[in-house]
Amino acid sequence: MTRDDGRLQLAHQVPMNELVDRLAIPSLRRAGAELVGPCPSCGGTDRFGVNLQKAVFLCRRCEAKGDQVALVRLVLGLDFPAALDWLVGAPQELTREQRAEQARRAAAHKREREAEAERRRCLAIRQAREIWNYALPADGTLVVDYLARRGLTVRANARLPRCFRYEPAARLVVADDSRRGEYVTVHEGPAMLAAIQGPDHSITGVHRTWIDLDQPKGKVVARHPKKPDELLPSKKVYGSKKGGAIRIHTPIEMEHLIMAEGIETTMSAMIGGPRGRTGYWAGVDLGNMAGARKLGPGLKYAGIPDLTDQEAFVPPASVKHLVYVQDGDSEPKLTKAKLQAGLRRAMALRRGLTAKIVHPGDGIDMNDLLMGAEPVCKGD
Ligand SMILES: [Zn+2]
Repeated sequence: MTRDDGRLQLAHQVPMNELVDRLAIPSLRRAGAELVGPCPSCGGTDRFGVNLQKAVFLCRRCEAKGDQVALVRLVLGLDFPAALDWLVGAPQELTREQRAEQARRAAAHKREREAEAERRRCLAIRQAREIWNYALPADGTLVVDYLARRGLTVRANARLPRCFRYEPAARLVVADDSRRGEYVTVHEGPAMLAAIQGPDHSITGVHRTWIDLDQPKGKVVARHPKKPDELLPSKKVYGSKKGGAIRIHTPIEMEHLIMAEGIETTMSAMIGGPRGRTGYWAGVDLGNMAGARKLGPGLKYAGIPDLTDQEAFVPPASVKHLVYVQDGDSEPKLTKAKLQAGLRRAMALRRGLTAKIVHPGDGIDMNDLLMGAEPVCKGD
């Protein structure tokens, strides 16, 4: 009665920014196409995001996520029918014609949104390719010094992997809270650029790391101009990372693929030189390596892939063995579940593929290990 009377489609047409106002969710601020701030359910400062274009929200901590109805349920603690009533009013008796008209409008609305999302995606990819095309070769630049600072020394005269480029003056910007659509430059300086390639080898995105060799980890430490307590990320992805990877080393006829989230972690796994038909790719982030997961009661840690996610990362067909490196510095149980989902998807879609997770130890990132961080192991 509630799910097929057309009111759900109506609910999906409620703009998220209006809904956030109606629900009076405090402390959300604009960041690009998102509103970011504390989670209405579990708090924090910036773990909660509302994507205004896709009309979805997500909490990175408690994993609350969903559409307009889900947001009303989260904030007001209502069940599905009550949340729907709150959003679009009680069900009305509609004639068959009215119902058909509503369905038609909802379908048109959905097509419009999908076309708009695709248009933005294409634009973002084009911008990422422009950044890549303007960047310089990385050999003999600060990129070499940055990687050396991270314990990743390149042999004299050896060339860096082709996935890297160098930018002498990349701008780090944040959205200007007082002027919608405007940005403030927080830092301008050298950066390492890494290409994100899709399954068809084309560049779909770039990953940028701002370099500052005066910092212990070689990365820029920049603060938000209005909020001095808030550190800005020194890395940023442009374009689309979905389904892609930073292909640091790809041998001919790659049979084994080792993948970690970050560039430095992936390269740390490569120390001692790449072996035989083993490739080393960075997955950019955990979400990309995992793809969509089946969620619901009791499924948070189950690591079951949602195979309807057509764009999730899957290794090339030549790969027989896939290894995901688990970063030790994130929440271990959930991280493992996400990695498992990604590996299970790969195994479901690539017949005969074997897969496993390796991790350097509790609370340790493989690159921290390489840089000589004190391991905090059980028994030490
Ligand atoms: Zn939360």
